[in-house]
Amino acid sequence: MNEFSLIDRYFKPLAASFPGSLHLSDDAAILSLPPGQELVVTKDAISQGVHFIGDEAPELIAKKLLRVNLSDLAAMGATPLCYFLAVMLPPHPNPLPQAGEGSAEGAGEGWLSRFTAGLAEDQTEFGIALAGGDTIATHGPPSFSITAVGTVPTGHALRRNGAKGGDSIYVSGTLGDSALGLHLLRHPRAGGDPFLINRYLLPQPRLTLGQKLRGIASACMDISDGLVQDVGHICAASGVGAIIERNKLPLSSAARRIIETDNALWDAPLSGGDDYELLFTVPPNKQQIVPSDCTCIGVIKNSSGVSVLDDKGQLITLSQKGFRHF
Ligand code: ADP
Ligand code: MG
Repeated sequence: MNEFSLIDRYFKPLAASFPGSLHLSDDAAILSLPPGQELVVTKDAISQGVHFIGDEAPELIAKKLLRVNLSDLAAMGATPLCYFLAVMLPPHPNPLPQAGEGSAEGAGEGWLSRFTAGLAEDQTEFGIALAGGDTIATHGPPSFSITAVGTVPTGHALRRNGAKGGDSIYVSGTLGDSALGLHLLRHPRAGGDPFLINRYLLPQPRLTLGQKLRGIASACMDISDGLVQDVGHICAASGVGAIIERNKLPLSSAARRIIETDNALWDAPLSGGDDYELLFTVPPNKQQIVPSDCTCIGVIKNSSGVSVLDDKGQLITLSQKGFRHF
């Protein structure tokens, strides 16, 4: 199968609900915007060997790629509009064998049909559709990239640079589940924990919350590389400092249970990656209207740097603040 038949069979159905895609039959998509709205655009790429091993379910690889982009839209307070997909696969001597279920390497049609089925499910769940992309052969490992596009009322996107001394720091959901899930996948122990592993495999983009936070949050971002490092990003952008109280971090009961067995696992909620929760700051006069499923974990200071305190108010020194690629 050549790339044109691949586009026809696997990608066109994902574009059917978005007229601006021109059904992937032209050179580019056309995006129109209601008056008073602007575009918010983000891109994430994944590569086999770095972001996935290759033996994960193709549906899950696809959903996670789409969801990390949706999490960026959520962090900006945007509403999803459409996305663009780049697919880069090694050429196969016998192009796209029927089997290929096991790995994206020499991805067979079985693999691609499961990958696109995962996208189709999440398109319905999050109200987004495919608008275009590119399909190429590569001499590198299988790689995929999504560019997601959202809309926001002009001038009302949530930025990282608005935090002020005295603002409270909040997070959504629970922290550390995903890093603990990855830890359990790497060091399987009796029983594992399906909840934690699922939190790693399938993040929940907080789109509804992000939209609600417009007009409430003074700064906002999604936590992808570890809480402390990401608080540092808001502080650097806003020219402020922060104090985080470790005993205020929201933990799931599954996370609390295994952290109690090993104190070193506090690293997961403090600096583990892949939470995809929202991290935001709120001025004192808006704290009563913060949605109740969010937790206050600290305060912004007119200083610099991020300090983490334990339950006795002592400064904690972290071995690592968060994940870095380089
Ligand atoms: P070009 O020759 O300019 O690279 P293509 O012929 O590859 O364009 O693409 C034709 C159409 O198919 C375009 O509308 C493009 O956006 C779409 N397309 C190609 N690959 C993908 C993909 N992986 N996902 C979605 N749309 C795609
Ligand atoms: Mg073209």
